[in-house]
Amino acid sequence: MNRIAVLGATGSIGTSCLDVIAAHGSRLQVAALTAHARWESLAQQCHQFKPQFAVISDPAVRAQMGGNAFPRETEVLFGPDALERISAHPDVDTVVCGIVGAAGLRGAWAAIEAKKRVAIANKETLVVAGPLVMDLAARTGADLIPVDSEHSAIFQALLGGRRKDLKRIVLTASGGPFRGWSKERLERDVTIERALAHPTWQMGPKITVDSASMMNKALEVIEARWLFDLEFDQIGVMIHPQSIVHSFVEFIDGSVLAQLSPPDMKLPIQYALTYPERWTASGPSMNWAQSYQLEFFPPDLEAFPALQLGFEVARRGGTCGAVLNAGNEVAVQRFLDGSLKFTEIPQACGDILNGHNFDAQPSLSELLRLDEWARKEMQAWKSSQSTC
Ligand code: NAD
Ligand code: MG
Repeated sequence: MNRIAVLGATGSIGTSCLDVIAAHGSRLQVAALTAHARWESLAQQCHQFKPQFAVISDPAVRAQMGGNAFPRETEVLFGPDALERISAHPDVDTVVCGIVGAAGLRGAWAAIEAKKRVAIANKETLVVAGPLVMDLAARTGADLIPVDSEHSAIFQALLGGRRKDLKRIVLTASGGPFRGWSKERLERDVTIERALAHPTWQMGPKITVDSASMMNKALEVIEARWLFDLEFDQIGVMIHPQSIVHSFVEFIDGSVLAQLSPPDMKLPIQYALTYPERWTASGPSMNWAQSYQLEFFPPDLEAFPALQLGFEVARRGGTCGAVLNAGNEVAVQRFLDGSLKFTEIPQACGDILNGHNFDAQPSLSELLRLDEWARKEMQAWKSSQSTC
């Protein structure tokens, strides 16, 4: 029995993960579930899965909660420290990192330190502290398996050849709701509703806005750089609107291996739990009785400068990932609050990156300090062209 802690259980990754666990109930068991503030949803999940622990990471929730919302067999813990405790708990075999943002780093770190199987959806962990995280995993021997669909595809395709024969990898991107839009149209016509309506994937709001700006692909380039120990110029991006080919690798003899499946996160989540085994699908499969048209286009870096920032940060490394990520988290929040224009997201992130004190080999505490700094800078950022 594989005992699983699902961090961020109430989110999009978390609920898909629980679907996978429910589909394979004889071999997978929920040991712990966590949420930040949505305790009612978490309590509901606990009634269904009866975990040993539930964690509510926002300590303010404690005062609002009813007396016996959770089942008797579940111990309820509060605050971010509890996230670390259950991630390292001896009754947990596997930790699924489904928290959004840099807030996911602490739980992932604790799980890797405790040598768990770590199914990592939280790309921000690798963007912020990739080299330190990979180093820690190498030291403890923790299995770090990607859940992000592109990285799961690369992980699977890499099994088809020798690592030293790899030439490059190509991450695919749907292009989001604004695919094909010009810079001018993006300035003029983007609305919050449109940015939140992704054409192929159902995801949480932050990653959905990131997909619209292509900052998600930027973060994924950085994630891939550290996860697979690549040079930045071994990573390419292609727009693939159908989201069927989840990414591909090219070997030195010109052979390209790809991974294909319908756009549904249950497969990469399940594979991260079962690797190197493969179990019966818990999500949809391809229907080879129908026709598919698969298209690939190079990205438009002028209209989507966020992607260019991703390549730049992957090249420079050091403190850049932490600064870009924190700046972007606040920029997305400001866009959703209406205090930042969509096209200002990459502009503001670029300004803050350029203005930070670069260090090529930062410690974890330095990265966390810069994360805080970049958040404050982004909160205060005003466009030089702004009239208000
Ligand atoms: P979501 O917003 O749907 O869910 C986020 C979860 O994290 C919730 O359970 C929430 O309670 C918890 N959370 C939020 N803030 C927190 C905090 N400060 N401390 C502790 N917990 C907190 O997000 P999502 O779409 O499921 O994405 C989760 C992660 O997975 C992100 O890093 C995202 O980039 C990555 N990812 C998601 C998808 C997808 O299909 N949704 C695909 C690939 C990668
Ligand atoms: Mg992805």
